[in-house]
Amino acid sequence: MPISDHARALHQQAIIIDGHNDTLVQHLADGDSLDLTQRDERYHLDIPRALEGGMTCAFFMVGSSRLAQAMELVDATWRLADEHPDSVIYATSAADIERAKAENKLAIIGQLESCTCLDESLATLRNLYRLGVRVVNLTHGEGGEGTTQLEPSIFDYGTAAEREAARSQPGLSPFGREVIAECNRLGMLLDLAHAADASFYEAMELTEAPPIFSHGTVFSQTPHWRGLTDDQIRLLAERGGVMGMAFHPRFIDREAPTMERMIDHIEHVINLVGPDHIGIGADYDGMGTNVPIPPVVERVPEFTEALVQRGFDDETVLKVLGGNFLRVMREVIG
Ligand SMILES: [Zn+2]
Repeated sequence: MPISDHARALHQQAIIIDGHNDTLVQHLADGDSLDLTQRDERYHLDIPRALEGGMTCAFFMVGSSRLAQAMELVDATWRLADEHPDSVIYATSAADIERAKAENKLAIIGQLESCTCLDESLATLRNLYRLGVRVVNLTHGEGGEGTTQLEPSIFDYGTAAEREAARSQPGLSPFGREVIAECNRLGMLLDLAHAADASFYEAMELTEAPPIFSHGTVFSQTPHWRGLTDDQIRLLAERGGVMGMAFHPRFIDREAPTMERMIDHIEHVINLVGPDHIGIGADYDGMGTNVPIPPVVERVPEFTEALVQRGFDDETVLKVLGGNFLRVMREVIG
């Protein structure tokens, strides 16, 4: 896709934040090096290509089900920053992200994707905070013993009636409620992606800080459970939060996923709640054999071009690219 001069200029000006990738954990699973500073076309993302694509900040998944794995991944993010200070900043604040923009580096934010690795210990959560992790995704969909919700989440296409009925199902576990309170106290960003609907609504009532939904889509556009319903989007906006648009084709359109269809999701959110609550949550290297849209991180300028072509004003485009995530991060993590 050709990029217009106007889109290219906006892209260069923007602070661009991606609310979720699984690149490090995928390298770990494949037995590949966790040093992402070499170009590697087998993956959607590496540091050189993220910078080439204009990214300012990426949320790296650094822990899900096992604490030992979390320790490996947190170490990997710190080593990237320690060994490559010319291209990487380990970020724990909004100011770190702005510094990365000024210095043309990539800011890495550490993000849990599930709290199962905490083994029901708030002390472990606090220690992960001390190690620099700033985003806490409550669940990767798991439920039951040792998790933050009483029942697992559904991962499938569904109907509006099923979504409505799910609101009165069992929601958060007692540990899930404790995690939310501790995140609020510490200044960790609460991430409700993958949460069951009942957990989502309970968390919305409990949290005292704006939450995020790091990577997902819009249910009324494509009826997958990983999409937020209009009611959920309104509630997220009321609480000052932001959702990241997943570049995952199956959540974008069941039959014919395209960039245009993804922009339909974004336009729907903007028409529903205004321009302040939608960002990017690409989910690079987190979708198996599915091909994301755009397919690799160096082609994210095509996303900016598509936003411009849809007719959004410059201010709105800058908010979607990262301004909204930055606002929430400044408010919650400092
Ligand atoms: Zn993931």
